[in-house]
Amino acid sequence: MSTPRKRLPEWLRVSYRGGRARQEVKELLKGLRLHTVCESATCPNLCECWGRHTATFMLLGSVCTRDCRFCDVPHGTPPPPDGKEPENVAEAAERLALRYVVLTCVTRDDLVDGGAGHFAATVNAIRARAPETQIEVLTSDFGGREEDLATVLQARPDVFNHNIETVGRLTPEIRSHASYRRSLTVLANATRLGQAHNIAVKSGFMLGLGETDDEIRTLLGDLREAGVSILTIGQYLPPSANHWPLARYAPPEEFDEWARIAKEEVGFSSVVSGPLVRSSYMADQAVEAALHPADNPSDA
Ligand code: SF4
Repeated sequence: MSTPRKRLPEWLRVSYRGGRARQEVKELLKGLRLHTVCESATCPNLCECWGRHTATFMLLGSVCTRDCRFCDVPHGTPPPPDGKEPENVAEAAERLALRYVVLTCVTRDDLVDGGAGHFAATVNAIRARAPETQIEVLTSDFGGREEDLATVLQARPDVFNHNIETVGRLTPEIRSHASYRRSLTVLANATRLGQAHNIAVKSGFMLGLGETDDEIRTLLGDLREAGVSILTIGQYLPPSANHWPLARYAPPEEFDEWARIAKEEVGFSSVVSGPLVRSSYMADQAVEAALHPADNPSDA
């Protein structure tokens, strides 16, 4: 018997608006055979982000080789990568005049380089066609292989993002084929390898999976020690009754307090924290706040 779903609190209810501009964007993406996370996750922030000329593209298909307990992405054997995808993403960035693009992907443990070359090709294609567009890559852990991480960073994205998702104790139960320490190593290596090109390092996690306050404090310290400067904190929302059970809805003021602690006590440059925050939400502002803190006094 499935447990009854907890009622959604007021602060998580948002209207999901449509409109002509949105329809036009959808048609263009369909024509280029591209997937945005914004659409596939029916993200509540979609209108706001597209209105700000930011979008998150899902590279390398929509089937993941891993099966995390919190994630709704289908698990299985993915088809081979679409070789035209890097050029198509670049065309979309140019035609939609995107100011900020997040490139993410399912985890492709089936590919020798985990898809690192595809990431780099996409960054390079966007640079060639839309040089003003800022680029964030949100990657898997590449099985911890430093050479694949280096391939991505050599393409010089503006931001490298790898989500740690949850605290150390819950990681083995919630994340599939991943380890807390390995993710920290990926972030520390990205900090070291990206330093010469001023690549900002970002990560994020969710509240509501069953973590304790002490564990969150440890997580914040570990991320900072790995060199992470931009942080996102959002609410876990189980995609179905078969996913990892929701422990609680954290109230908005708790998100504000963790943002304050992360910035003032732990030393992150930029923190985006709130019930509706997703990894790429306000990504453009988060990086601005990290690079020019004096101009962005209240980014948290
Ligand atoms: S690796 Fe990423 S896309 Fe794959 S199941 Fe886990 S969270 Fe979802």
